[in-house]
Amino acid sequence: MAYPKIVIFMGLPGSGKGTQADLVSERFGFFHFDTGRVLEKEWYDPAKQNDPVVVRERKNFESGVLNSPDVVNTVVERYIKQYSAEGKNLVFSGSPRSIVQAEFLFKVFESLFGYENVLVFAVDVSEDTSLFRNSNRRVCKKCRTPVLWNSETKDWRVCPKCGGELVKRSLDVPEIIKERFREYYRQTEPVFELIKKVGIETVHVNGELPPEAIAEEVRNHLESWSKKHTT
Ligand SMILES: [Zn+2]
Repeated sequence: MAYPKIVIFMGLPGSGKGTQADLVSERFGFFHFDTGRVLEKEWYDPAKQNDPVVVRERKNFESGVLNSPDVVNTVVERYIKQYSAEGKNLVFSGSPRSIVQAEFLFKVFESLFGYENVLVFAVDVSEDTSLFRNSNRRVCKKCRTPVLWNSETKDWRVCPKCGGELVKRSLDVPEIIKERFREYYRQTEPVFELIKKVGIETVHVNGELPPEAIAEEVRNHLESWSKKHTT
């Protein structure tokens, strides 16, 4: 089956977009493109430790200074090209986070695949649900899998995937979560206007549902996309 070359999950923190991207990766063979991980890979590439730009950016990264946007864009574009040359479809869940990032990414997508090969899932969730999920979860120290608190998981201390220790993140407190909402409305939500303007197809899914039910909606959409594009 032919799937979109690029799938992007957008939504509030706590919408479950990262989980859905992981599921699309596991079940449909997409590569989960995590910008943070890609950059880390680049800054620590043993073959590049004589490159002054890489060394400078690694130092910035280690001291918490933002990496320079031009360098980030160049690296991201190179990795997107590399993975797609290997025949991989890509799924995004952490970017684009702003109009500036979106303008850059969309240009790369357009030149490589055309907008008709990009599909956006908007995971719709209320602030209350999102707040509840963010403040009632723990994250695996090792593999970063999030575990949501409920009657079944309340005694869990170790990660069901890798056995790592589950910890509460310092970011997951109401004041900080609300600040992240404001950032989302200010920086990320305007990206939907750009998506509409350039004509990328957007599908809304109900983020209030449990992960498996959302995954079912996503599967249905991917399959009907595939049918539409192979006939
Ligand atoms: Zn783990």
